[in-house]
Amino acid sequence: VFDVLIVGGGPAGAASAIYAARKGINTGVLAERFGGQVLDTLAIENFVSIKETDGPKFAVALEQHVKEYEVDIMNTQRAVKLVPGKVNEIHTATGAVLKAKTVILSTGARWREINVPGEKEYRNHGVAYCPHCDGPLFKGKRVSVIGGGNSGVEAAIDLAGIVQHVTLIEFGNELRADAVLQRKLRSLPNVTILMSAATTEIHGDGKKVNGLSYKDRNTNEVHRVDLEGVFVQIGLVPNTEWLKGTVALSKHGEIEIDAKGQTSVPGVFGAGDVTTVPYKQIVIAVGAGATAALSAFDHLIRSGDD
Ligand code: FAD
Repeated sequence: VFDVLIVGGGPAGAASAIYAARKGINTGVLAERFGGQVLDTLAIENFVSIKETDGPKFAVALEQHVKEYEVDIMNTQRAVKLVPGKVNEIHTATGAVLKAKTVILSTGARWREINVPGEKEYRNHGVAYCPHCDGPLFKGKRVSVIGGGNSGVEAAIDLAGIVQHVTLIEFGNELRADAVLQRKLRSLPNVTILMSAATTEIHGDGKKVNGLSYKDRNTNEVHRVDLEGVFVQIGLVPNTEWLKGTVALSKHGEIEIDAKGQTSVPGVFGAGDVTTVPYKQIVIAVGAGATAALSAFDHLIRSGDD
């Protein structure tokens, strides 16, 4: 029986593992893909104290740091069920059942893709998903933001301050963002807003993005916009499908946690992008992982099971 079993091996899970193991308690990490989203990242320039690194390097450093401690790492294993109890059970896709006094859920999230030709080919070569991360790479260039909800409009406002020009593309016939954000967006001189526009293809020269085509849904005409970057902002999906009915989830499917990382189930904690924590960033996930591990330890000593 683990004292702490961490499900998810991204920055949040890695930080939880280090903090838990340093308390001398029996710690395990179950991860489908140790490293998490950072494996899909090129440059990382906002992890405080590391001026610049890249995703794969950062993932190796996470794993090496965790391996400094006695942590049972179970990589390429997917959790499919949580059965809460005095001793919690995590069931894996291969049929194994792991037992743990406390559980930390840190299964992260994934960006929803638009699934048009060019998106996969030019991912990290002009196609981006995170304006906080990649916005500065497009300084002085032309970009589009796909999606007119709150995250798309926020991204467009943010990017308009950095890049030369932003084209916001909304599929529906109106923006879905809060009125105050829409007002701000419309006041910016270097933003064009296109509505009823379905992105059909992202173009490139074989190396990087150089344009985008969209279909005007009113006239069915296809138009091309020349640009250097495309930010896809049509939603971040938390990896919680397997948790429905066990821990309380927000309407967006995120695990609801309190300031200590506690979920609705005693002894089960959450950390990182999979939770309701605002702003999905590595530095924030790492902090949340530390919080959850310290809270799990606190739970163990208070329940007299330590
Ligand atoms: P994740 O990194 O998503 O890790 C989740 C872990 O859980 C993975 O190990 C996954 O395999 C595992 N998992 C999922 N489901 C299961 C399951 N059922 N069973 C077992 N394991 C499971 N942030 C920055 O701060 N700076 C950047 O420059 C930056 N650039 C980014 C660029 C891209 C392209 C992307 C996609 C994200 C970027 N981010 C950046 C965001 C950052 O990567 C995330 O905020 C961070 O990785 C969240 O960490 P996490 O541990 O919560 O989740």
